[in-house]
Amino acid sequence: MDATCGRVDRRGFLTRSTAVIGAAGLPPLVMMAACGGQSASGSSPAATATTGPVLPRPATPAEALGQLEEGNQRFVAGKPIHPNQTLELRQNLAGSQTPYASILGCADSRTSPELVFDAGVGDVFVCRVAGNIASPAETASLLYSQAVLGSEVLLVLGHDDCGALKAAIDVANGKAAGEFAPLTDALQPAIAAARGAGATGYALLAAATAANVRMVMAALPRMSTGIAQAVGSGKLTIVGGVLHLADGKVEMLR
Ligand SMILES: [Zn+2]
Repeated sequence: MDATCGRVDRRGFLTRSTAVIGAAGLPPLVMMAACGGQSASGSSPAATATTGPVLPRPATPAEALGQLEEGNQRFVAGKPIHPNQTLELRQNLAGSQTPYASILGCADSRTSPELVFDAGVGDVFVCRVAGNIASPAETASLLYSQAVLGSEVLLVLGHDDCGALKAAIDVANGKAAGEFAPLTDALQPAIAAARGAGATGYALLAAATAANVRMVMAALPRMSTGIAQAVGSGKLTIVGGVLHLADGKVEMLR
């Protein structure tokens, strides 16, 4: 095995894999032959278990955001390509990771970022908690993703029909929070802001969802000096979005 086989080198890997795909119409798994594995024409069951292409890792925050948006477009269209899930890539990532994006999303079962953005292994560093709130633990995790792993973009992802926000609205209307208080308390400022802007009824939920995303975006650099410095130096871009469950589209909050 040569030195390139045991370490992540997605750019080099992509170049080589693309050349192979273009030349022979074969999946990237043929690269296993060059790394001491079995070739695609061999007898290994793994040789037929590969999936989509290996995409280049984005080099800038703008490119990272673009890759997320392109992935979401594929998800919306129902045409995912399942990138970066080859067996060799998984093996190469076993010792290190360089996710290009961090995502703070809701724990809701309908909002998995890897699906919504058609991402693969090692692409996105995800923190999920009901209501996509920024607790100290989530904030420290997101700092780790940028400062240690080098992620280029930090997306705060809300979604419609959020149960945490609906519960928080109930609490705002007088219902006891009970053991949900750590979540519903954190969401009260967003509900107050939405109400202050005149939102009522179902529109209140949508407005509070967007307000919460914006508040979390603003809170993260306040809660973490490291995140603030990364934003200030241009190494990190914080963006917000709301996932619309019915069509899968992530509406970016500009
Ligand atoms: Zn939710």
